[in-house]
Order: sequence, then C-alpha cells, then structure tokens
Amino acid sequence: MSSIGSAARAHLFHDGTVERYRDVLARGVDRVARRVAAVDRPGTGAPPEALAPLVGAVDLDRPLGDTDAALDELHDVWLRDAVWFHHRRYLAHLNCPVVIPALLGEAVLSAVNSSLDTWDQSAGATLMERRLIDWTAERIGLGGAADGVFTSGGTQSNLQAMLLAREEAHRRVVGGAPVRPARPEVLARLRIVTSAAGHFSVQKAATLLGLAADAVLTVPTDASRRMRTDELARTIDRCRRDGQVVMAVVATAGTTDFGTIDPLPEVADICTAAGIWLHVDAAYGCGLLVSPTRRHLLDGIERAASVTVDYHKSFFQPVSSSALLVRDGRTLRHATWHADYLNPARAAEQGIPNQVDKSIQTTRRFDACKLWLTLRIMGPDAVGALFDQVVDLATEVWRRVDADPRFEVAAPAQLSTVVFRYANADPNLADEANLHAREALAASGAALVAGTRVDGAHWLKLTLLNPETTVDDVTAVLDLIAGHAAWYARTAATPAPVG
Ligand SMILES: *Cc1c(COP(=O)(O)O)cnc(C)c1O
Repeated sequence: MSSIGSAARAHLFHDGTVERYRDVLARGVDRVARRVAAVDRPGTGAPPEALAPLVGAVDLDRPLGDTDAALDELHDVWLRDAVWFHHRRYLAHLNCPVVIPALLGEAVLSAVNSSLDTWDQSAGATLMERRLIDWTAERIGLGGAADGVFTSGGTQSNLQAMLLAREEAHRRVVGGAPVRPARPEVLARLRIVTSAAGHFSVQKAATLLGLAADAVLTVPTDASRRMRTDELARTIDRCRRDGQVVMAVVATAGTTDFGTIDPLPEVADICTAAGIWLHVDAAYGCGLLVSPTRRHLLDGIERAASVTVDYHKSFFQPVSSSALLVRDGRTLRHATWHADYLNPARAAEQGIPNQVDKSIQTTRRFDACKLWLTLRIMGPDAVGALFDQVVDLATEVWRRVDADPRFEVAAPAQLSTVVFRYANADPNLADEANLHAREALAASGAALVAGTRVDGAHWLKLTLLNPETTVDDVTAVLDLIAGHAAWYARTAATPAPVG
C-alpha cells in the first residue's frame, strides 16, 4: 500500500482512531469556545471584496496536513469575520442562538452518521424521529391519523405540503385512482391562496410543481398584517366562477416580517366549508407550541391539513431542523416511490419503517437527534420559556419605539419582530436615510438589523430571538440607527459646496 494511502486511513473514524477523534474534535471545540468568548460584535462587517481574496488564496490541492494549521486558516477565512447569532446585538434575521444540548446532538449525529431514508441505515433513529413527529403533531392537535417527516427547512416543508395538496386536488378533479404524472390541463387550473405577508417559498413551490405563472393568489392583509378572511372568501368564490381549483390555502402563523398570525379559526372555517386543503406555515410561530403562556395564539392550527414547523427558528436548534406534519398520514404516499435497491414495495408490506417513503429527500440527516437531546435535557417548557422571553422583549421594544418621536412603527408583533423606520427626516429622504442607517450599522459591526419593504417604502426590522438581549441593548442600537440616519438626512439635505 502507498504511504499516502495508509496515512489517509488514519483520518477515517473507526474503532482504531477514537483517540484521534477525541483529540481533533476537542481542538475544534476549543477553538470555537475561545472565539465565542472573544466575540464583541455580531459581525465585523467585512465586505465580500475583503474576504474573497483570502478564500481564493487557499490552495485546495495542497493540504496543510495539520489540524491546528487548518483551524488557524479557518479562523482567517471564516471565524474571524463570521456573523454570530448568539451575540446580543444580532437583531437581523430569523436566526436563533442555539442551545448546547442541540450542539451535542449535532456532534453525535454526524459522527454516527445514520441516514434516515431506510430502517436498514438508521435503526432506532427512525423510531426517534417518528416519536418527535408524533410529539409535535400532538402538540398541534392534529389527531390520531397524523404523521410527518423532518425536512431541511421551511422552504422544503412548504414545497412538500404543496406537493401533497396538488396531488389531492388533482385526484379529485380527475377522479378515481391517482394519475402520474399530473395532467397539464389540470395543473393549469390549480390555484394557491395565501396572504400578501406570506413567505416567498410558496411561490417557489408553485413554480417547481409546474403550476401556472399566476397560480399563487395573494389576499390583502388588515391593518395588523393578518390575512383578511372576507377577501379570502371572495378570492375562493372568484376562482370557482372562473373554473379554477383552489388546491390549498396557506395561512401563516408568524409572518416573516411582521410576526403576525393569520386568523386561523376563521381561515379554517372557510377551508372546511369549501373543502380546501389548509396549510399552516408555522415556520416561525411554532415556538408557541411549547410556550407556557402563549399557546392559545395558535388556536385553530389543529384544523390544518398540514403544518410547517422550523425548529431552527424558534426551538433554538442549529440549522437545519424542520418538519412537515400532516393530519392524514396517508397523504404522504404522494412522496413515495419504490426503488428495488432501497425500499421495495415488499418492505412496506412487511411493515418496515422506511422514512424515505414519506420524504422528498433520500439520504437524510438525523436532525431529530438535536431536538431529542434538547427535550431530554432541558424539556419543552424550558424551550418555550426562552421563546416567551423574546416575545416579551419584543412587546417592550415595540412600546418604546412607538413612543419614540424619532421612529414610526408598523403593526404590533404577536411574536418577536419589530418593523420600524426612522421618520425624523424629510419624507423624500426617509427611504435613503433608513437604507443608509442599516448599511452603516452593519459596516461598523456594532449591530445587525434587517430591512424590508412595507407598502413600497424601506423599513427596518428587528428580529428578536435572543433571550440574552436586553431592552438596553436594543435601545443602544436604536440610538446608533437614529445617529446614522440623522447624519444621512443632514448631509443629503445640505447642498454641495459650489466650486
Ligand atoms: C423562514 C420562513 C420560511 C422558510 O424556511 P427556511 O427554513 O428558511 O427554508 C417559510 N415560511 C416562513 C413564514 C418563514 O419565516
């Protein structure tokens, strides 16, 4: 055997290398721990132009050979300028700080490397995932026939939900047994109705599923950014009259921008009366499932045909960890294909639990392990208490921003976002002043906030998912934003010196 071959084998993880495994991982853990202990900003604001040469200069064909040297390099190309979601002034997107039991789960699941497509690649892990699916379905209240599967994220969960809804609607239109592939003339008539504040992944799913370019109809929202149910009913009626088939209504429990929850009981009434698949996108709001004080905000979710949950948004889990739940487990058969080498029909007849029969993925991570250890070490109430803290924080921050003459606020959030804008400037400059404030803040690394458009104007958004963040932290960031915006407004309003 070549010497390079035998040296390479020393890197394989097996019973003969457990000491190396311990040593190498401990070094990695130690690096991360030391880096996190030293982080004093949520990011350095280093632009792509600054980092691209560093990443580009790495010669991937010339290994460093040594763990510490590789970790040093990793520091230079990534860890030094990484964006840190655990930092108290990271207030931008729906990224949560993560709980340590889940990090333990991540380390264990990747070492064991079970693949959740088939029982013969996962054994007990499949049963653990199924327990967590049942646990989540029970928290939602989906009933005894419910089922589901872990996915890579809300986008994938929504896509799969729309696939199931499409197949069910197609079957109803065509009649009789399921027809594959779906008939183009039927696909062209299918419509999905969601609110103007729904997530863009619904549009993406419609495109991937071969629906018409105008298949997604968006219903206006009310002043609090919740779906208007009178408009929903009107839209459904109009589709009927035009010979279109509404294959799904997508209600959002926690809109990405406003953190608002569509009126689920009323939406469910309309869907029940019209016989339409109700999908509830609770990618963000799912944290309420374990909230000791706010579970009632999700009332009505138990009537959904399918639900998206993102544990990596409000259960403090590392990316990725998401699931799709369905009221009627049999509908998951629309994701089933039998492959002779993997999951022959015979395996299903024998009752062998092959999760690939329910998933649009094949090889699939045991992400459920992270949630499992989180529940077994912390318990659901502790996770819910963390989510409650950020909702409390957002309530208080909203109150303060609302009372602050420098700012105006959008609809009060039911979850943990605050959408606001600097309004102490010439209205013609307000958009640019807010854009500038966000960029200047990010470039300084002092804090990260998000931006979005509301009714055509540029607004700023705080997504508060860190229970360690205090009102004082947010107040300090608001002062920085006001400072940057005021500077911009002053500078832009001053005519350039002549000459
Ligand atoms: C984030 C989000 C998604 C997409 O989830 P990913 O995990 O990012 O794929 C879908 N819907 C809503 C409401 C979201 O907030």
